[in-house]
Amino acid sequence: MTPDKKVKILATLGPAIKGIDDIRQLVEAGVNIFRLNFSHGEHADHALRYQWVREVERQLNYPIGILMDLQGPKLRVGRFAEGKVQLAKGQAFRLDLDATPGDAQRVNLPHPEIIAALQPGMSLLLDDGRLRFEVTAKHADAIDTTVIAGGELSDRKGVNVPEAVLQLSPLTAKDRRDLDFGLELGVDWVALSFVQRPEDIVEARELIQGKAFLMAKIEKPSAVQHLEAIAELCDAIMVARGDLGVEVPAENVPRIQKDIITTCRRLGRPVVVATQMLESMRFSPAPTRAEVTDVAAAVAEGTDAVMLSAETASGDYPLEAVQMMSKIIRQIENGPDYQAQLDVGRPQAEATASDAISCAIRRISAILPVAALVNYSESGASSLRASRERPTATILSLTPSLHTARRLTVAWGIYSVVNARLSKVEEVSSTALEIAQAQGLAKKGDTVVITAGIPFGQPGTTNTLRIETLS
Ligand code: PGA
Ligand code: MN
Repeated sequence: MTPDKKVKILATLGPAIKGIDDIRQLVEAGVNIFRLNFSHGEHADHALRYQWVREVERQLNYPIGILMDLQGPKLRVGRFAEGKVQLAKGQAFRLDLDATPGDAQRVNLPHPEIIAALQPGMSLLLDDGRLRFEVTAKHADAIDTTVIAGGELSDRKGVNVPEAVLQLSPLTAKDRRDLDFGLELGVDWVALSFVQRPEDIVEARELIQGKAFLMAKIEKPSAVQHLEAIAELCDAIMVARGDLGVEVPAENVPRIQKDIITTCRRLGRPVVVATQMLESMRFSPAPTRAEVTDVAAAVAEGTDAVMLSAETASGDYPLEAVQMMSKIIRQIENGPDYQAQLDVGRPQAEATASDAISCAIRRISAILPVAALVNYSESGASSLRASRERPTATILSLTPSLHTARRLTVAWGIYSVVNARLSKVEEVSSTALEIAQAQGLAKKGDTVVITAGIPFGQPGTTNTLRIETLS
């Protein structure tokens, strides 16, 4: 597996991915990290998919990340007797606490707190805002609405109520059960949905107890307001445009996406742009021009990763979607001004040895034709600082920890190899050159830049930079 792009792909698993061979094909096409979406599926399904990914990681000897995405206080309607219904503009529709499967007149809304918070005149947005209802009457266990924008509504679709204030914890009882299950499985990353405040991150950290890294999904207006504090407290950020684009006016989303990417880069937190990136590829082998441009724009803005949701989880063309995403990424990365734009947006280095060295490797790789930047890293922290600089050459992170290697799968430009901690300083160059060559990153005569913390085994001590030629 020779790295051929800097921007990473996060792909969601679901019923469209049927086994180990499917996973391997997706990885070979460019997926770096998979998402288990706990809004759908049973624990047994997630456990099976988890094992498939670990098996492919073993077969390819290539670290692959696994992110569990907690549903959070996402509001959803119940199920329909026929799986779906058509709702026409102007018709009446009731949402109630009755768990009986729904029809074209009513459906279950299993959230008493929403029914309580809604008032006549408020709007209800369903299925990422595709359908819109207005509340006409309120009862103890139901609300009556008029359909303002109709269409097809199917099982378990999301509900947003932007005008109602809901007092909800970011972790529901289901999230806590799912989290226990996922941590027991051994997921590398946990994504927290509908984060509203920095305290939500603190609460989640206490439950995770260092067993996984934490990604905050920005999909609420209040999370946008507290972005800086939230990003400081977590390990990565997701621009969750699906719910975000319903909770704030859709036209604000591109601007917010840009701001989030800039903030994350400054803080050195990997950022994932998510949702509807190649949406039409659920049913079509080719994307729309607008979708291609959207993926390209996220890459050009400097995102670490882009995500596929239903395209890979339940779509008809999961492999084609990943292949398309990889091709778009490579087109932009190989374009004439990608690197120049990244350089312009470069954040200030902090006054640390690690940042001074990271800054130096970016300069060196612009002066010399550097084939690879090898970084010895225990926790991944120094590799992340190097990635923050967005250097031209690929960062090859050598770590004794598989946990670290899997963590870094989401970060821009970093590929990891798990390698036993060196015992002798003399091995630093020879090992780095050997692995860079074995990974297909460097050949005879190429220049390789090596950074390390010596003595070994002490995180946060990056202090050494060497320039070597592969002989
Ligand atoms: P979801 O999160 O797919 O879990 O809703 C992503 C988003 O809201 O964009
Ligand atoms: Mn969401």
